[in-house]
Amino acid sequence: MTNKYMYFIANWKMYGDLKSVNTLDKVIKFSKSNKNNKFKLIYCPPYTLLSLFSSKLKKTNINIGAQNCHVNDGYGAFTGSVSSKMIKNVGANHVIIGHSENRAQDDTNLIINRKIKAALMNKLRIIFCIGETLMERKRKKTKKILSNQITQGLKGVKNLSNIIIAYEPIWSIGTGKIPKINSLSKDINYIKTFVQVKFKIKTVKVLYGGSVNTKNINELKEISLLDGFLIGGASQNPKNFIDIVKKTFI
Ligand code: PEP
Repeated sequence: MTNKYMYFIANWKMYGDLKSVNTLDKVIKFSKSNKNNKFKLIYCPPYTLLSLFSSKLKKTNINIGAQNCHVNDGYGAFTGSVSSKMIKNVGANHVIIGHSENRAQDDTNLIINRKIKAALMNKLRIIFCIGETLMERKRKKTKKILSNQITQGLKGVKNLSNIIIAYEPIWSIGTGKIPKINSLSKDINYIKTFVQVKFKIKTVKVLYGGSVNTKNINELKEISLLDGFLIGGASQNPKNFIDIVKKTFI
C-alpha cells in the first residue's frame, strides 16, 4: 500500500469544543510533508465546529466534512436539523452518511438514499457508511446486508464519482476489535466487485473503519484494495492520527 492515494478521515463524533481547533496545528504542519499527494486528510468535527475548522484549514490541503445531514437539500422548518446546503455554505466539501450510530436511531436505507441525493445536489462528496452487526456476521449474512445497504442507499444515483464507501462492521466500532485481515480483504473485494458490476463502473473507493489505531494499522495497511481509513476515537489525538498516516506508508 505504498504508491497509492489514501484517505484518512477523522470522525470526531459528538466530541470537541472551541479549544479543539488548536489540536489541528500539528496536523497542518504534518500535512505539508504530503509532497507527492500520497494522502488526503479530511476532518469531520461536529456541526458546532464546522465553521471554525473550516477557517483554520482554509489555506491547507486538509478537507472538511460533516457527520450527517438532513434529507431536505435546502432550508426549511426542521428544528434542530442541518442541511447539506448549510454544510457546504460553511466550507465543508464532504459529509458522512449512513453511519451505524445514525442507522441505530432513525436512518433507514430509504432515508440514507434521500440524504445522499440531497448532499450530491449540493456538490458534497459522500462518505457512505455500510456494515453488519455481529449477529448478522455470525449468521453469514454479511454479503446480503452489505449488498442491500448499497443497492438501497445508492438507488437512482447516476454518477458514483462523488461516493466513497466506508465499510464499518458495527461490532468493530469503538470496541478495539478488528476483523481478521484475510476476511476483511474478502469483504472489501466483495464490496468493490459488487459496486463495479452493479453500477457498471471501473472502480470505487472503499475505506475501512472500526477501531483503527496506531498498532493495528500495521496489519490493516497490508490490504492492498483499501483506499484509506475512517477513524473515530484515535483521530481526536493529533499525534495518533499522524502516526496512523505515517505508519501506512512505512
Ligand atoms: C467511526 O465511528 O466511524 C469509527 C470508525 O470509530 P472508531 O475508530 O472509534 O471505532
